[in-house]
Amino acid sequence: MIEMITRRQLEAEVDDWHGAMCVTCGRPFPRRDVRYSQCLVCRKVGQGGKIGLNDKIYLWFQKKLMVAVDKMAAQQKDPPESALWWLQRLESVQAELVATQQELDRVKEDASWVRGRMVAIAEERRQAREAAIPPLSTDMVRKMLFLCHPDRHDGSEKAAEVTKILLKMRGK
Ligand SMILES: [Zn+2]
Repeated sequence: MIEMITRRQLEAEVDDWHGAMCVTCGRPFPRRDVRYSQCLVCRKVGQGGKIGLNDKIYLWFQKKLMVAVDKMAAQQKDPPESALWWLQRLESVQAELVATQQELDRVKEDASWVRGRMVAIAEERRQAREAAIPPLSTDMVRKMLFLCHPDRHDGSEKAAEVTKILLKMRGK
């Protein structure tokens, strides 16, 4: 009785096999047993075994696979040394430089704004200082007393009044 097997079951079975390189022909082969170091074709040829259609089909796929493996290896080796790779690298470095320059310009702009703001604040403070009425010094009160003395103003009542306040301010 023939046991029916599905394609899915077959694929699941071969999925567990590891790939290896045949020590004789150097081509990839499914290594379903770690004891095997040669591909099926090399093993059969070496042992003088009978080569059937299945072996030839195996060989055909093996050669196709080898071409694909070679192509992949060439692609992996190529990019880093290729002119295109260097061009892309150069472009990315240039882009980084542009971004850095833009960042620098922004920082400069910020710095100049801060400088302008500081100058404006200093000016505002200077104007505020100028606008503020300075406290009367003793010396100034003395000068005011000299100028306001009633004797200088024909004994004016107003002069007497101001002099009284100024004397209080002088602390007498
Ligand atoms: Zn082989």
